[in-house]
Amino acid sequence: MTKITGNGTNRAGGTPLVDGFGRTVSYLRVSVTDRCDFRCTYCMAENMVFLPKKDILSFEELASIIDVFVKRGVTKLRLTGGEPLVRKDIMDLINHTSGHLKNGELKELTLTSNGSQLHRFADQLVAAGMKRINVSLDTLNAEKFARVTRRGRLEQVLEGIEAADRAGLAIKINMVAMRGFNDEEIVDMLHWTHERGFDLTLIEEMPMGEVSGDRRESFLPLREVRDRLAERFTLEKITLNTGGPARYVRVQETGGRVGFITPMSHNFCESCNRVRLTCTGKLFLCLGQENQLDLRTALRAGGTEGVSRELDRAMILKPKGHDFDPTRIAPASVRHMSVTGG
Ligand code: SAM
Ligand code: SF4
Repeated sequence: MTKITGNGTNRAGGTPLVDGFGRTVSYLRVSVTDRCDFRCTYCMAENMVFLPKKDILSFEELASIIDVFVKRGVTKLRLTGGEPLVRKDIMDLINHTSGHLKNGELKELTLTSNGSQLHRFADQLVAAGMKRINVSLDTLNAEKFARVTRRGRLEQVLEGIEAADRAGLAIKINMVAMRGFNDEEIVDMLHWTHERGFDLTLIEEMPMGEVSGDRRESFLPLREVRDRLAERFTLEKITLNTGGPARYVRVQETGGRVGFITPMSHNFCESCNRVRLTCTGKLFLCLGQENQLDLRTALRAGGTEGVSRELDRAMILKPKGHDFDPTRIAPASVRHMSVTGG
């Protein structure tokens, strides 16, 4: 929760962002690039066409917009993409933003990564004040890894994870559960992560953007996964609030945690505290809805005050929730996940 002072402002001195349903927005996800060195089958088409470089917000623009969000009470910031670590000036952005960590305005600065570049960046991330990261890893089988990422190398990602662990980052592994692909590997992944002291978060596949397969075939409701895990393990419900949408259990036998992100079978919108900024400056108010505002235009026309005014408008437009339907063939959203970063 954002700490509100007696005069109605938050720690950073701005008025908080409260939407029409009384939810305070304190969590911003920023997709810093739509580019990626992988082409995961559930996330991207094989021949993705990326945005022209000129459409991408510059470091200065991104930094200014982030500063406005922090001023308006955002306390948690996640950088994502595309692959955030393939953006050339990513460390400039992280070092700029870490200034808000150091003065206490931001409680957490974190990152979701495919792990391919972590071996190069782990130490720098820690030096910038980052404490934990999410790494996506859907399988521990090298051949299947190459198949699902279309161009990733498992060994490189494992090296990256090891480097992050050595550098002292807490690690959460994100695994998209796919029927007929990795459903038989979930128990192995659970042991692998918990033996290393990592959390595991399972994610239901969401219908974001056109991809080549039929998502209805691979869609695996996590209710089913949880029931199967409960046959082998003792799952204790815990109240761990990471500010994100996952619900967690502790596995008594391993002592580790497993989170479930179930946008399809369980709607978590009532407690939604987040908005998403794309690398072109579009602000999406819900992962599954198209309501959006253009903060780049607002910044160019009215500077940071223009952005702040646009955020007030955003709070009126933020919808109550999304309406993903696993039985539909057509994507619920035409956007690929790499646009908003999950
Ligand atoms: N490239 C980074 C990565 O893979 O971690 C960050 C961006 S990626 C879009 C963020 C998260 O979204 C990843 O954990 C990925 O597995 C997940 N994701 C991508 N497409 C998805 C989909 N259609 N349904 C559910 N999760 C998805
Ligand atoms: Fe790239 Fe992440 Fe999408 Fe995979 S899930 S294609 S790594 S952005």
